[in-house]
Amino acid sequence: MKIEKELMAYCANCNKHTKHTVKLYAKKPERWMNVGRRRHERAIKGFVGSVEPKIHPKKLGKKQKVILQCQVCKKSSERVIGDRTKKKLEIKH
Ligand SMILES: [Zn+2]
Repeated sequence: MKIEKELMAYCANCNKHTKHTVKLYAKKPERWMNVGRRRHERAIKGFVGSVEPKIHPKKLGKKQKVILQCQVCKKSSERVIGDRTKKKLEIKH
């Protein structure tokens, strides 16, 4: 799946359509003391016994996300391209 590196999109800060630069979304590393980890540590603390892991259903592919940055005010926003897919996003050169 290919996407243009520049496109017109609505900017909430400028309140109009402006040119945006497209960047691929990269997931940030997980924080060490996030809420889920603290809750899990509280659950397994003491004589509670083992905590069963939640079984999540397998999803077919991921939703592809891109970061759009406004060229006028430099504010950035996220946008989901399409639906769940196994295809990787690429930026056209
Ligand atoms: Zn803007």
